[in-house]
Amino acid sequence: EQDLKGQTVVVVGLGKSGRSAARLALARGAAVLAVDGNEKMVPLEHDPLFADHANVQTILGYNEDTLPAADRVVVSPGVPIERYSLSALLRSGRQVMSELEFAAETLPAEVKVLAVSGTNGKSTVTTFAWQMLHHLGIEAFAGGNLGVPLSEAALEYFKSSSAHEVFQVAVVEVSSSQMEIPNRHFCPSVSVVLNLTPDHLERHKTMQNYAEMKCRLFSNMRHDRLAVLPTGNEYLEKAFCNYASKCNVARIGSFPGIKVDMDARVADFHFPNKYCAQLQLKDLKAIGEHNYQNAAVSAFAVIGLDVGINTDLMDGIVGRLTLLHHRVQVVCRDTNGVTWVDDSKATNVEATYTALMGLKEHKLIVLLGGLAKVVSPEISSGFEQLVEPLKHHRAVVTFGYSGGPIHETLCHGGLTIPCVRATNLEDAVNHARCIAQHGDTVILSPGCASFDEFRNFEHRGMVFQELALSMQKGNAQPF
Ligand code: ADP
Repeated sequence: EQDLKGQTVVVVGLGKSGRSAARLALARGAAVLAVDGNEKMVPLEHDPLFADHANVQTILGYNEDTLPAADRVVVSPGVPIERYSLSALLRSGRQVMSELEFAAETLPAEVKVLAVSGTNGKSTVTTFAWQMLHHLGIEAFAGGNLGVPLSEAALEYFKSSSAHEVFQVAVVEVSSSQMEIPNRHFCPSVSVVLNLTPDHLERHKTMQNYAEMKCRLFSNMRHDRLAVLPTGNEYLEKAFCNYASKCNVARIGSFPGIKVDMDARVADFHFPNKYCAQLQLKDLKAIGEHNYQNAAVSAFAVIGLDVGINTDLMDGIVGRLTLLHHRVQVVCRDTNGVTWVDDSKATNVEATYTALMGLKEHKLIVLLGGLAKVVSPEISSGFEQLVEPLKHHRAVVTFGYSGGPIHETLCHGGLTIPCVRATNLEDAVNHARCIAQHGDTVILSPGCASFDEFRNFEHRGMVFQELALSMQKGNAQPF
């Protein structure tokens, strides 16, 4: 149904999400005016995906204070709310919405949405949940912040003749920047906020603000919906109070909710106002305690969707779950008996902390460095919190732009194991190879962004994997 016929939609930002939103707006019958501050973007008129459309116009290098007049404004996650007087526009009552909301209001009500947010673990839980649904024969979409924008899921419905058969569930990874525009239309059946630790503060400024963005995921939840969040995070608790009083609430780490027993490799589930169950995790093929928790939370959330799945069905699926690359991924075991692990996705200190805590049984040589994140005045540099979990391990090698300051912070913080300073990643790998003893594990879990040396964390991870494999001169056994 072309519900936007005769209307003009301004799409702000022409990245992946903006382009998908523009296609969705066209499918809904609107004319699209797209703006982007960057002159180098490809205008929609030259994008093959828009070839048949006369109803599109693009203005590149658009850096005015205000946007052109329109019936609606759809904002890409990459565009901060300070741009183009978006906050004033919102206050004026104009229809301003995020790409996520624009897509969500288009999805048929029958599609159940599972939303996953948090500082770390979003992609893992999104992927695990999708894999569980897939293995149980339920058609599901996975996307949002990870992979394909939600607008693509909505577009599927426009293309299909038998609308209800496209998929039953949409698993959506949500980042805090997708929630900067207040949320009115996105109302998942199950919303999960996994955790909240300092990150992205250059954009959200304070931890409370960051928590507020995350909790907007809960802002439309009715009584039959399920909210899942951690126990005892003061920022989240405060922000959560404003929402979700009406819906069911489950906690990660206490009841009603999910508790993981690592010794027994089981998760105990207590669904609010419902039943209790136990999930067997011993078949999970992953290392790191956090991944056991991720698998348990994913299963809990999928069961919470009420699409006819129970814990007994889940037990058989756990062993079939596969992790995404660069997240505590075992690369190889070399003939010296050293295991090489790629955790390049650990782009903040908290992710590295989690990896260290989850790999207590290993003797680690940890590669730390890259471009350290901006940390707000209320949070100290962060790396000193690694001193304690590092004390049982073999050594640290720091590298890259922030390698020097990290080295200093750790040494002043009382690090009790050797800490070597390398120039770049390759140098760091060389040092690690010299230090490693039989049975040790070398892990790249840098706690920093990658842009000083690499295009992105994937690029950094691939280079590390190649180095790990090639340096063993064919002796390494792929995992
Ligand atoms: P995101 O999509 O939120 O960035 P990922 O699933 O890609 O998260 O994982 C990023 C990194 O965060 C991983 O490499 C791992 O070190 C760490 N991590 C994964 N799961 C968790 C968790 N539940 N709690 C804390 N850290 C985690």
